[in-house]
Amino acid sequence: MSGFWDRFFIFLLISVIAGLLWITLGAVVTLACVSIALLLLLFHHQRQLAILDKWLQAEKSISLPDSSGKWGDVFARLIRLLREQRQAQQQISSALERLQRATSAMPEGVVIMDEMDRIEWCNPVAEKHLGINARLDRGQHITHLVRHTQFATYLETGDYSEPLVIKQSRQQGMILSLQIVPFGDKQKLLVSRDITRLEKIQSMRRDFIANVSHELRTPLTVIGGFLETLSEEDHVDAKASKLALKLMTDQAQRMQRLVEDLLTLSQLENTENLARDDVVDIPKMLRELYHEAQSLSSGRHAITLDLRTEAKLRGRMDELRSAFSNLISNAIRYTPKKGAIALNWEIRDDRGIFSVQDSGIGIEAEHVPRLTERFYRVDRGRSRETGGTGLGLAIVKHVLTCHQATLDVVSEPGKGSCFSTSFPLARLIND
Ligand code: ADP
Repeated sequence: MSGFWDRFFIFLLISVIAGLLWITLGAVVTLACVSIALLLLLFHHQRQLAILDKWLQAEKSISLPDSSGKWGDVFARLIRLLREQRQAQQQISSALERLQRATSAMPEGVVIMDEMDRIEWCNPVAEKHLGINARLDRGQHITHLVRHTQFATYLETGDYSEPLVIKQSRQQGMILSLQIVPFGDKQKLLVSRDITRLEKIQSMRRDFIANVSHELRTPLTVIGGFLETLSEEDHVDAKASKLALKLMTDQAQRMQRLVEDLLTLSQLENTENLARDDVVDIPKMLRELYHEAQSLSSGRHAITLDLRTEAKLRGRMDELRSAFSNLISNAIRYTPKKGAIALNWEIRDDRGIFSVQDSGIGIEAEHVPRLTERFYRVDRGRSRETGGTGLGLAIVKHVLTCHQATLDVVSEPGKGSCFSTSFPLARLIND
């Protein structure tokens, strides 16, 4: 309102002055004076506009141009608007930067796509998973980089409730789970997860269940068969029934050994993080195992025990006993009659080494890296014949890992094998 009255009084003042001039000096002089005044005013506004233009062109400057009056107010208001806009811009860009940093730190790959499924942005994990170059591939259609017919179909169908699992050919052996998440105005997020490990665990679990079922089915079939025959026959002679009972007992023992080994493995898995700090008298344990080995071999092998140190170990007695006993029983089972088996306990290169050397059938080099896998056997028949479960070396490996120890296998087919366990200095008690 005050603006209106200001303008009204100025207009009134000019009209009064113009009227007085008209009356005293005449029309021509008055028009000349008014024209000069209007020219001066026009010049003033032109100058202020030039200042405004110059100021607008010098983008970065937010200092106030030197002006007074109405133009001064206009500049002050513009400066305030500019400051507010810059502040808002800074807030947005720092929020954007934080968002990008957070997305980059995500373990999942993230690709932002436009409404035409072209790449707008992606984080470093997505670059690794999908072989995208965030800078160079911007604007490329996603299917040019994720070249899978299944993915193209998944993208087209528009049903993104379930993720798609693909084998990434660019990175050997990598298995990816891809999920599309629509957002905003027909835009999409592509989230990629590396599920190679998960898939491996799942396939191991499937194999494991299949193996256990298979291992149990054979003895159960044998026992079932005998039971059926015995129940169907009216008169079973004593000799035949004794033989059937013996064979059934063998199969039952086989199942028992399998179940015991499975329980040992599961207990080891459940107690992986437990401290294993008991003092285990290894020489004493090995003397006992040596006697057990002799009775297991029943004089078929020449077994020797060489205790080169009396050092003890920090660990769990039952676990170490089970691991060492597995190695010894393997040596007996895979060494033909009259063969030699040597058990050694020594300290070498600051490590406690227990080794079992045999002159048995040996192992082809290609099998050695897989020996500690569950149910892996070089000769299935021989393993079964000698009462093996296929879990012995898996147990050994697990026990050693829980004791920060390692297993080393040196073997030559037809000549024999040496299985060495090596314990770190920190576990040795040498008094
Ligand atoms: P198994 O119960 O079949 O013996 P293990 O896990 O103890 O299972 O051993 C895995 C495989 O490693 C065996 O089936 C056998 O083929 C091989 N193996 C283990 N120890 C020896 C050895 N001392 N000599 C030759 N082969 C061996």
